[in-house]
Amino acid sequence: MAGSAGDLVRLVAKGHGRSRAELARLSGMAPSSVSLRVEELIDAGLLREDGEGASRGGRRPRQLRLHENAGVVVAVDVGTHHLRMAVLDLAGRVLLEHELPGDITEGPEQVSERLLEHVRMTLRQATVEQLPLLGVGIGMPGPVDPAAAKVIAPSRMPGWNEYPIGRRMSELLGVRVVVENDANLMAVGEHRYGWPDRDNLMAVKAGTGIGCGIIASGKLHRGRGAAGDISHVPVHVPEPVTCSCGHSDCLEAHASGAALRRTLRAQGIEVSSSRQLVELVNDGVPEVTTLVRNAGRLAGQVLTPLVNFFNPDVLVLGGGLSAAEPFVAAVRGAIYERCLPLATRDLEIATAVTGRDACMLGAGALVLDEVLASEWVDDTLSAR
Ligand SMILES: [Zn+2]
Repeated sequence: MAGSAGDLVRLVAKGHGRSRAELARLSGMAPSSVSLRVEELIDAGLLREDGEGASRGGRRPRQLRLHENAGVVVAVDVGTHHLRMAVLDLAGRVLLEHELPGDITEGPEQVSERLLEHVRMTLRQATVEQLPLLGVGIGMPGPVDPAAAKVIAPSRMPGWNEYPIGRRMSELLGVRVVVENDANLMAVGEHRYGWPDRDNLMAVKAGTGIGCGIIASGKLHRGRGAAGDISHVPVHVPEPVTCSCGHSDCLEAHASGAALRRTLRAQGIEVSSSRQLVELVNDGVPEVTTLVRNAGRLAGQVLTPLVNFFNPDVLVLGGGLSAAEPFVAAVRGAIYERCLPLATRDLEIATAVTGRDACMLGAGALVLDEVLASEWVDDTLSAR
């Protein structure tokens, strides 16, 4: 039976337990015991109760919320070319966020140093100064073993293989650290903040690389760590391009932002990022538009059997390339052309609701889950 102080806090955090009466019903505890626990949690500064007192037309029920000052988490999206960071309160609301340029190829030691420096600087900012840091969630642009909190055999990330980024940051900051692949985090972020009522969702992150995250029955599906990896699915292409995995017909080697930039470089067009690629599409540069549309067609080829097979409620398109209309239109076209009518009947194909924040918000959501599932609530109560 659910009944610990931690269980009550989790029910409030998820928005299910908005009053003492709801908590009693959901936890199966006696109303008097719930009231006692809630008083303890309010005294400990973990919960607060709004809307007290009578209002015209009768007594308004008092609404329970997590206390903003109970603590914060930091969420980080480590991109190939950026570090995006936010401080979130326990309800998952963003208190402040900022982005700075980064370079993942500088290697793990240098990136970790920068990360640490910026987490500390962010926390020093006035609004969060007094609030305890409870955890950090980090998204990485490569395959992650979430149990070991390590990046495993990433492409385009020299020196990062097996680097224990989670343990390192946890030692330096003295809090729990969750590490997850960016496409998985995009799926979590979009599910929690964009489509909370849809249970099955696929989120494609098409940026420098191409990945996919899966929400199945409301939960992130990791498999054994590699679930959703569409980078190395073979596609039909006229000219082979050798992929980091050694094959010559992988989706990522032909349709990722990195692949498109390489092709353009060979044509004498220098492009530094996916964002710039999209600007050239918006400026109507025909070579670039053709390439981006073709990338969308290839991604659509790969996604078509997956949409039939998994039959999601929502297919989210995110990452830098999703800001290019020809890419989105080509994916959409391929799916509606080839998927079974039953698979597309109620399918939503949408660009990321949370935009560039998706991975960061997903990292925040995962670390908040961990904090609230931990013994933190009981420890906070017993430390008083
Ligand atoms: Zn490959």
